[in-house]
Parts: sequence; C-alpha cells; structure tokens
Amino acid sequence: MTDAGQKAARRPHIGLQAKFAVAYAALIAAVLLFLNTYPVLSSQELIFRSKRDTLQSQASLLSSGLAGLEEVTQAGAGQLMEQLSFQNLTQVIVTDPQGVVVYDTDRSAQSIGTRCDWPELETALTHGVDVLHPAFQDGAFQSRAAAPVTIAGQVVGGVALFEYDTDQGTLLLELQRNLRSISLVVCAIAIAVSLLLSRALTRRIGRLLQGIRTVREGEYSHRVKTSGHDELAQLGQEFNQLTTRLQTTEEVRRRFVSDASHELKTPLASIRLLTDSILQADHMEESTMREFIGDVNQEAERLTRITEKLLTLTRMDSADRRTAEPSDPTPVAPVIRRAGHMLEPLAAQSEVTLAYRLEEDCTAPCDEDDLYQIAFNLMENAVKYNLPGGTVTVTLAGTRAGTVLKVEDTGVGVPEEDLARIFERFYRVDKARSRAAGGTGLGLSIVRDTVRAHGGTVEARAREDGPGTSFVVTFPLPDGEEEH
Ligand code: ADP
Repeated sequence: MTDAGQKAARRPHIGLQAKFAVAYAALIAAVLLFLNTYPVLSSQELIFRSKRDTLQSQASLLSSGLAGLEEVTQAGAGQLMEQLSFQNLTQVIVTDPQGVVVYDTDRSAQSIGTRCDWPELETALTHGVDVLHPAFQDGAFQSRAAAPVTIAGQVVGGVALFEYDTDQGTLLLELQRNLRSISLVVCAIAIAVSLLLSRALTRRIGRLLQGIRTVREGEYSHRVKTSGHDELAQLGQEFNQLTTRLQTTEEVRRRFVSDASHELKTPLASIRLLTDSILQADHMEESTMREFIGDVNQEAERLTRITEKLLTLTRMDSADRRTAEPSDPTPVAPVIRRAGHMLEPLAAQSEVTLAYRLEEDCTAPCDEDDLYQIAFNLMENAVKYNLPGGTVTVTLAGTRAGTVLKVEDTGVGVPEEDLARIFERFYRVDKARSRAAGGTGLGLSIVRDTVRAHGGTVEARAREDGPGTSFVVTFPLPDGEEEH
C-alpha cells in the first residue's frame, strides 16, 4: 500500500450516512434555535414598547397633575390618584425633591417619610428627566418608570410607577412552551425523514460500491441495477457502460492471446516434427536432410514474421500509439513505388502485373514508415490472393474527402460476409491459402490500426467491374481545409 493509502486506512472511517446525519442535525438545530428565539424575542420587544408608551404617558399625567397642585402632599397625591384611577399599576410612589416618600399606594410597605431607593427615581430627580425601565423577570413583565414633578423649571418632587403584569408574561411563556412543543415534533419528523432519506441514498451508493468491487474481482459480466434519472442513476449507467467496454476489451485480449499462442504453436509443432524425423532416422540421404532443414528454416521464418507483427500490434496497442503524433504531410507516390519495387519478385513469381495511377502531389498526414507499412501490406495481399495473369492496380488521388489510396486486384475476392471481419486479428478467409502464401492473419489489423492512428479510414469492397477486391484508404484533409 502507498503512504497515502496507509494514512487513509489509519484515519477513522466516517460513513456517508453519519456525515449526512451530522449535516442534517446541524441544519435542524439551527432552524429550531431560530424558531425558538426569534418569535419570543420579537414579541417581548413589542410588549416592552407598549409598556414604555403606557408608563410614559401615565408618569407624565401624574407629574403634570401634581405640578398643578400648590405643593406635593400625601392628600393631594391621593386625590389625584383617585381621579386618574390607573388600573394597571401595582404601586405608585410620590416623593419630595429629595426622594422622601410622601405618598405610596402600597400601605403595607410603610414607606412614608423614608427615602425611596429606586435608581430610576434617583436619576429622574437628579437629572430632571423621565426614566423608563421595562423588564421581563420570573414570568412577569416588571416595569418601572420615574418622572420629576417640575413647577417653573424647579423640581418639586418625583413620581415612581411600578407595573407587575403577569397576564402578558403568561402569554409569552405560553408562546415559548408552544414553540418548544412544535420544535420537538418538527425535530422528530425531520430526524425520521432524514434517516429514511440518507439510508435510501447510502443503500444505493452501497449497491454501486458492491458492483464496483465485484467487477474489480474480475466478474466483468456483472451490472448494477439503476433506477430513476438522478446523478446516482447516471453514475450507475456510466459504470455499466464502462464495464461493458472492459468486458469487450478483456474478451478481445483473451481471444488475441489464445489465437496468438495457437499461431505460434503450429510452426513450432512442425519444427518439432521435422527435427524428430531427422533425429530418429538412422540414415538419411543428404538431399532429404537438406529438404527437411529447409522446411525447418521456412517455419522459423514464419515464426519470425508472426512475432514481428505481434510486436508491431502490441506497440500500437499502447495508449500513446493509438493516436499517433501528427506528422508533416508526406508525399505518398514515392512510398507506393518503393513498396511496388519490393514486391516485383513476388509479383513476377505469381505472374501478376502491378499497375499505377498516381497523382504525384498527393500527401498524407502520416510518417513514411507507417505509410510504407500500409501500402506494402495491401499491395502484398493483392498479389498474394491474386490469380496467375491477374493485375493489381494502385490508384492515388486527391479528392474533396482527402487523399485516397485504392488497391484493386483481380484475384480470388473476399466473400461478402467476410468483408467486415478480415481486419480482425488472425482472421483469414482461406486459412490454407493464407498459410501457403506465408500469411499471418495480422497484416490487415496492422493496416487498420495504423490508418486509424493517423485519423484515416480503411474499407474493403468487392470490385464492381469483375472479380477481385478493392481496398480504399482515406486520409481526411486537415481541419478547415477543403480541396476544390
Ligand atoms: P494474411 O497474413 O493471412 O494475409 P491479412 O490480415 O493480411 O492476413 O488478411 C486477412 C485475410 O483477408 C487473408 O487471410 C485473406 O483471406 C483475406 N484477404 C486479404 N487481402 C485480400 C485480397 N486482396 N483478396 C482476397 N482476400 C484477401
């Protein structure tokens, strides 16, 4: 395992479901906190405001009433209070300018003649201003207000009001309680729903994970079940497509390995047979011996050809070769002539004529070696699978589609049903004929892979004007260019 892998394995594993649960819980907690505080605080603030307004006007009324009297006395304050009849107030205190109580609605307090120690009153008397202090305590609104009594700018006394309101306090507590109950219900529902949702989600992810593990173990036929159209379903579909590709590649690889071993086994078996015959013979004529050794040599050559071609294909299979580096345009005609020159002896031996119709200025976006490989393989096949007296015509032309190389022969032809398959590795229409002609069944695969690597296409067709086959390679023009 790599360092990073080991570190990851050591780290405590937090499942996706746990992460979802924590995220949901945090979200729910935030919402509930808001739900439990905001309405209570704003209702409290509203009540405070109304208390301030009421107490302010009551304090003003009382102090201006007292200012209308000649002096602040217990009797005068008592009369005024009877006229004003403030129902909401719990206690009303009237003092002289020093804060000594001259009137108190709470008789039980026996405060007459003592100093009133309310800080609000002290401030009102010292600074000559109204002071309001609403508060919510022990489930009740306990609001205090104080105001100076002034005559001609002179503070002649003070009033202090106290309101103890349990009604609105109870209402507020009730609201708080209700919100708490609602929150608990919402919380329970949210937890249940989020548990269900996250479980459903993690179950689907778990299925996908299990599928990936199964495929990783090599069971390429396994597919995950997908339902719906969301991202997870898309992930499942993509995974299935990937697995299908993997399965195809694996099948192709297996077939290739088994075909390749089979192809290598055949000449090896022949060599073994020939050498055994030589070894077992007590006495062998020199000419027979030479013939046998010649056969061994031929089989060894075949092995060399197969391994060389296999190596070429393996090189092309490596990722960086599948799309070759773009190369400068290479003139095609000289390469074709060079391939033709190499094939002259074989053509003469097979009594086949090579004919050319080449446009000299045609180029292909392909390096010379690859171009030679393509031309040589197609032309060699056209000679190999031809008939005595036959012709191979190589045409090279620049068209609107690009540079087109056509190799036509008047040979044995390829049956319609085999045309699409002859590019497969080791596929041969007539095994015996291919073997007799020194074929490996790999030439056309190399042609196809090389052409594709350079952005071109290759196809095989039966000739229209007689027996034989026609192979057409097209190298498209570079993007944005079009021949006129
Ligand atoms: P081989 O080494 O056997 O020639 P190729 O991959 O070049 O392998 O070709 C595959 C098969 O396609 C050949 O075995 C042959 O049956 C068929 N084939 C290829 N070219 C021609 C052609 N010009 N005419 C007829 N058959 C052909």
